[in-house]
Amino acid sequence: MKNALHELISRNAPCYVYDYETLADSARLLQKTFPAYDFLFSVKANPFPPVVKALASMGIGADAASLGEVQLARSCDMRNIYFSAAGKPDKAIENAMGQCHLIADSMGEMERMAAIAARRGLTLPVGIRVNPAFSMGGGPGGSSKFGIDEELLPMLAERLREWRQIRVTGLHVHVKSQNLDAHVLGAYYRNCYELAKRVKATLGCDMEYINFGGGIGVVYDGTRETSLDFDVLRTYTDAIATDNEKTLGARLLIESGRFLTCRMGTYYLKAVDVKESRGTKYVIVENGMNGLQKPAIAAMLRAACSAGELMPQEPMFTSEHAFGFTVLSDAAETETVNIVGNLCCAQDILVNHFTGPKIRVGDLIAVSNAGAYACTLTAQRFSSHPAPQEFLVDAEGTVME
Ligand SMILES: *Cc1c(COP(=O)(O)O)cnc(C)c1O
Repeated sequence: MKNALHELISRNAPCYVYDYETLADSARLLQKTFPAYDFLFSVKANPFPPVVKALASMGIGADAASLGEVQLARSCDMRNIYFSAAGKPDKAIENAMGQCHLIADSMGEMERMAAIAARRGLTLPVGIRVNPAFSMGGGPGGSSKFGIDEELLPMLAERLREWRQIRVTGLHVHVKSQNLDAHVLGAYYRNCYELAKRVKATLGCDMEYINFGGGIGVVYDGTRETSLDFDVLRTYTDAIATDNEKTLGARLLIESGRFLTCRMGTYYLKAVDVKESRGTKYVIVENGMNGLQKPAIAAMLRAACSAGELMPQEPMFTSEHAFGFTVLSDAAETETVNIVGNLCCAQDILVNHFTGPKIRVGDLIAVSNAGAYACTLTAQRFSSHPAPQEFLVDAEGTVME
C-alpha cells in the first residue's frame, strides 16, 4: 500500500476509501463494450459527491431516485439526469420539472403530472416506467410497486387523449439487479427493446430513449461466482443497436449502480478492544453496523433461518459472501474471532468465526466490495456515534474532491 494511503487510513479509520482507478476501469469497460449505449449511474448506490463528479467527467449521467438525487447529480455536473421512482410527491415533481427527464411510475402519477403541467400552462415531456409482461428469466412478469403494468398500455393510450399536457417521450424498465448470466440479461434487453416498439405503437408516442435499467452483476466472491461474459452480452446489445439505428432511432440507456462502484470501495475499521467470553474471542470495532450495515443483516438472517440457502433481498442483502475481510497485520499467529461493533445490541456483527492473523487493539481491518450500497445503506445515526468518513483517492493515494 502507498504510504500516503496508509497514513490517510490510519489517521481516519473507520473510513471508506474509494479507488478512482478502479472506478474509471469499470466505467471504461462498460463504455467500450457497449459503444452505442449511454450509461446512467444509479446514484443511490453511492451518492458521495466526489464519486458522482468523477463519473460525470467520464460522460455518465444519472439514474436519480429522488429529488435530492436530481439536485445532487446537477450539482456534480451530470448532464443527463433521469428521475424515476415510485411515489413521487407533487413537490418533487414540481421542483424536478425542467431539471431532468421525468419518468412517470403510475397512472395516478401521470395524472398528477398532467394537472401540474396544466396549472403551469406547459406541455411536459415524460417517460413511462413499464412493469413488463416478462420477467428477467423470460417467464411471465409479476406484480410490482414499480411502473405501469404492460397490459394497461391500451387504457393509458385512452387517458393520454385527455392529458393533453403530457407528451410521452421514452420508456424505462428495470426488473432485477445483480445478473451474471449474459444470455439471461441479453434476452431481457431484447425483450425490453421489443416492448419499446409495442409502447410506441400502442401510445402513438415518440420513443426518444429506451432505458433498459440495471442488472449488470458484480462478482462478489470469485470462488463462488463467475463474471458476466461481456462478449456474449455484446452480441445481443449490438443486434439491438443495429435494428434501432434502422427503425426507432432511440437513445439507448443502461443503468448501473453496483458494477460501476462496488469494487472501488474498501471500508477500513480499527480494533478498539479485544476480549474473551466463555471460550469465544471478540474483537470490537468502532462503526461496525453503524458504519456498514449489510454484514449485520446477513448475520441476522442466518440466525433467523438457521440452515439452508438465503435468497438475495437486494439491495439490503446480497449474500453471506458479499464482503471480504482482511486483517492488516503481519502477526504470525492466527486465531478465530467474532469481529463485532461497539453498539449496545448483540446484532452489531461484522463477521463471526473469522480466522486470520491475531488482531491487537489498534490493528486495521479492511472490508472489500464496499463501494456500492454500503456507506449510504447504513443507519448511521443510531446511538449518536460519529459517522465514518469517505475519501476518493487517486493512484498516488491523494484525496480527490
Ligand atoms: C437500484 C437501481 C438500479 C441499479 O442497480 P445495480 O444493481 O446497482 O446496478 C438501476 N435501476 C433502477 C431503477 C434501480 O432502482
